[in-house]
Amino acid sequence: MQNITILGSTGSIGMSTLDVLARHPERYSVYALTAHSRVEQLAEQCLRFKPQLAVVGSAAAAQQLSALLQEQAPAIEVLFGDAALCQVASAEACDTVMAAIVGAAGLAPSLAAARAGKKILLANKEALVMSGQLFIDAVKQSGAVLLPIDSEHNAIFQCLPQGYQRQPAALGVEKILLTASGGPFLHRAVETLESVTPEEAVAHPNWVMGRKISVDSATMMNKGLEVIEAHWLFGAAASQIEVVIHPQSVIHSMVSYIDGSVLAQLGNPDMRTPIAYALAYPERIASGVSPLDLTVVGQLQFSRPDLQRFPCLKLAYDALQAGGSAAAILNAANEVAVQAFLDGRIGFRMIDQLIARTMDTLPLCAVSDIDLLLEQDLLARQTVHSFLNA
Ligand code: NAD
Ligand code: MG
Repeated sequence: MQNITILGSTGSIGMSTLDVLARHPERYSVYALTAHSRVEQLAEQCLRFKPQLAVVGSAAAAQQLSALLQEQAPAIEVLFGDAALCQVASAEACDTVMAAIVGAAGLAPSLAAARAGKKILLANKEALVMSGQLFIDAVKQSGAVLLPIDSEHNAIFQCLPQGYQRQPAALGVEKILLTASGGPFLHRAVETLESVTPEEAVAHPNWVMGRKISVDSATMMNKGLEVIEAHWLFGAAASQIEVVIHPQSVIHSMVSYIDGSVLAQLGNPDMRTPIAYALAYPERIASGVSPLDLTVVGQLQFSRPDLQRFPCLKLAYDALQAGGSAAAILNAANEVAVQAFLDGRIGFRMIDQLIARTMDTLPLCAVSDIDLLLEQDLLARQTVHSFLNA
């Protein structure tokens, strides 16, 4: 029996995770569920999955949740705040942590799980993009097991030899081919991009996801973050990671070997596949995803990304190549810019411009510890806000 904490259980990944768990009650129990502000949804999940603990974002939310659970589930302990997130991610009684909080807010609890030697199912790519080597070092030191949930990285993991040790060259890997759908604006006239609305940007053609990652997919910053994520997960240099546009989202990514072999993982675009894979690893369990019928898909297409249309992808490659604090600055600037776009404060094309300006403005430094990293994250956020308020 694996006892699981789901960080961000009310989100898109969190809900898909609970869907898979519910299919295998004999294998999994829920240790803790966490949500930021959707208290009623979290209360429903608590009544159904009976965790030992539930964590919310504020004292007021905790009071509200306790009241909702009082009659039917008074034994569930309700906590709130960042320290409580770290507590449920690192508790002795928890074996596995699904890290599915969106953005930098997920860094501290994901890192707490890494330091505590947990099996970490990592959806929260921003945490790894920001902290890079610090995260990988924490995993190594504690003996934690890090399994990627991001569909591309999960696919790559499946296409690499078992027991993969972050040494691509030693295993004959030539390149990692990261597939990208191209998002909702793949064919839209570039000069009309400035006027797209948040609703158009979050309407992804193949995937149903949270709002932030949906905007990231529309700018292709999501793919940029994934290039950096692949670098840290698989130890591949930027030059070994190639992005390929594949609008059908059926091939989730590929690994190209020096003998000319290319291995791919295919499936319907549904996050329950990578979630089930990581939960049961190295076994396989049913996920609820319908089998892929390639005769219905009919065609698989591929093309190179256009960096004029998707400047965020280039910014991410630049940040990876620059090293040090660059990826943390990129990530923080992106989070603030995307929120400003979703709030209707800026146009779509301002997202990449704000990130580029922030990266040009802030000097790079080495990030040797988490405090330094968080300083850089804050500085980048303040810089974007100052541009927004100017
Ligand atoms: P979402 O917006 O649907 O859910 C986010 C979750 O995080 C919610 O449960 C919310 O309560 C919680 N949360 C938000 N802000 C918080 C804060 N400040 N403190 C604590 N908790 C907070 O997002 P999602 O689409 O489920 O994505 C989650 C993560 O998984 C992201 O990092 C995303 O990039 C990654 N991911 C998602 C998908 C997908 O298909 N949705 C695919 C690959 C990777
Ligand atoms: Mg992905």
